[in-house]
Amino acid sequence: MKKKIAQIAIIKPLHKLFDYEIPESMESEIQPGSRVSIEFGRKLAIGFVINISNKINSSGYNLKEIKKLIDKYPSLDQEIFKLILWVSKYYHAPIGQILGLATPLYLRQGKIIDEFSYVNKKNENLFDQKKELSKEQQDAVKIIKKSLSFYECFLLDGITGSGKTEVYKHIQNEIYKKGLQTLIIVPEKNLIPGLLRYFNTNNLKVAEYHSSLTPKQKFINWTLIQNSEIDVIIGTRSSIFLKIPSLGLIIIDEEHDVSLKNNSEARYNARDVAIYRAKSKNIPIILGSATPSSETIFNVTKKKFTHIKMRKRINEKPLPNLKIVDMSKKKNAILSDNVIKAINNRILKKEQTLIYLNRRGYSPVINCRECSWIPKCSKCNLNMTYHKNKSLLMCHHCATKIKFFNKCLNCDSCDIAYLGEGTEKIEEVIRNEFKETRIIRIDSDNTKKKGEAEKIFKEVKLNKYDILIGTQILSKGHNFPNITLVVIMNIDQSLYSPRLKAFEHLAQQLIQVSGRSGRGKIKGEVILQTAYPDNENLTRLIKSGYEEWMVQLLKIRKNLNLPPYKNWGVIQAKSKKYEDAEEFLYNIKKILNRYEDTEIYGPMPSI
Ligand code: ADP
Ligand code: ZN
Ligand code: ZN
Repeated sequence: MKKKIAQIAIIKPLHKLFDYEIPESMESEIQPGSRVSIEFGRKLAIGFVINISNKINSSGYNLKEIKKLIDKYPSLDQEIFKLILWVSKYYHAPIGQILGLATPLYLRQGKIIDEFSYVNKKNENLFDQKKELSKEQQDAVKIIKKSLSFYECFLLDGITGSGKTEVYKHIQNEIYKKGLQTLIIVPEKNLIPGLLRYFNTNNLKVAEYHSSLTPKQKFINWTLIQNSEIDVIIGTRSSIFLKIPSLGLIIIDEEHDVSLKNNSEARYNARDVAIYRAKSKNIPIILGSATPSSETIFNVTKKKFTHIKMRKRINEKPLPNLKIVDMSKKKNAILSDNVIKAINNRILKKEQTLIYLNRRGYSPVINCRECSWIPKCSKCNLNMTYHKNKSLLMCHHCATKIKFFNKCLNCDSCDIAYLGEGTEKIEEVIRNEFKETRIIRIDSDNTKKKGEAEKIFKEVKLNKYDILIGTQILSKGHNFPNITLVVIMNIDQSLYSPRLKAFEHLAQQLIQVSGRSGRGKIKGEVILQTAYPDNENLTRLIKSGYEEWMVQLLKIRKNLNLPPYKNWGVIQAKSKKYEDAEEFLYNIKKILNRYEDTEIYGPMPSI
């Protein structure tokens, strides 16, 4: 007798689906999305049924049968299924890999938990403190409320402290009244506790979803969410794949943030997947940011998104003053006198200082301390990157190379600065300069464990520290009312980084971290130390503000045919032997050369 065949995806980085026969006993119950146990190779594996077909096995091999159907109802619904297939296709990622990202470990292991229920965490403010909306908040709510039952993408473009969260809450409440669920995605898990507190009020059922939960808790939350028992889900990027049957609204907070993008395995951007999901489900989506990304502003100009601006801080608190301190003549100095004075001043007044280091891992950019020379590509005028082991300066755009032996090519000086080093040193210097002062360094090293970051944030709010030294963890989202001074240092490597989006990301960080200053009663101050006070991008950003600067940036990108006006793709090859990878890429280049409107650079070594 002819048996039906199931095409099954296995949680492995494989593009292929595998055919298995469906035993008659399961025929009526197996559906696309069903979780099954199968023999794969010689081992048992868990798989998800993607398709069921009536086609006859024509492979000439005997197909194996599905061993076991694990759940009565499919673990994934049609919506998630469609989403996973689209993501796999759009990002050229193996479907098994996306399934891995999209499902909690217990589900992939074939586990079942029977007894659990929703536990409402104790909360300090179980009752909403009713806030009267500002005029801008009212307007924002009014505009979004018009589109609660169909797709529309809103950009909530509100400066730091303008009260975007309160707008989210009002819209979420409307969705709740319709009996629907809201999904809120943030770029980093340490932004979740703050939002949980904000939303965990009255009778709302709120659940978190991120990598710090135990596998068991993750599975419990996953199950509660898919049973429609949760009203608000607050999670990190992989939450975009959660099965949420009554999903009525998606909010992406800090839409510009690079952490929304997965940079290993499947390189999806949760914001873009969210827009696709909202569109196919025909529900509204809100992208929130004080510093919208260039691609989002581009979409606004193309009228794909609705732009809502909030330009005032709550209670009209002014934005902090920003000052640039020129470090170019201060050889080897790490702290300027102005900064030392300003910090001492805060210590006296018992106010807090945040010292922000941009520690992003770019390979070093170099410059000459004698004559300020920075190597630039003669063909594209972009800054060249130093490759230490090959003694080369290289343009990562067109692959132009020049030899470099630690000697300035302009003035022969050997006093070369390798930008991007010495961040550890900064902490040392600060501790030396401000003895007797309570100093804490906050970075990914001491905030890895669950609850650690929360504990430190609480201590900061209780004024247990005078100086905070921090990386990006501190730059976004948080409200520390006693910080009145933000010092930004070590940004010079990003000023001249050859990466397309380096300055855009730096601008976002500068605005975000500045926004941490002066959120309490006292007006804040921001001091930026740089050896390049005349950097064109920097001066334009400070003079005209982020919004104007972005308009200019897009003009420049348009003139130079750069993204988002033109799409870029990278083809990367890995091999044990360099020559093999290179030859492979040259062959691809030959094929691509047939397309006249495609410009091709390289091959060249990866950064
Ligand atoms: P953003 O996310 O836009 O930077 P937040 O949402 O963090 O700003 O809001 C900043 C602060 O203002 C928070 O402490 C918030 O509770 C408070 N807030 C927001 N809206 C109002 C309002 N209408 N009245 C009083 N306080 C508000
Ligand atoms: Zn070049
Ligand atoms: Zn020089």
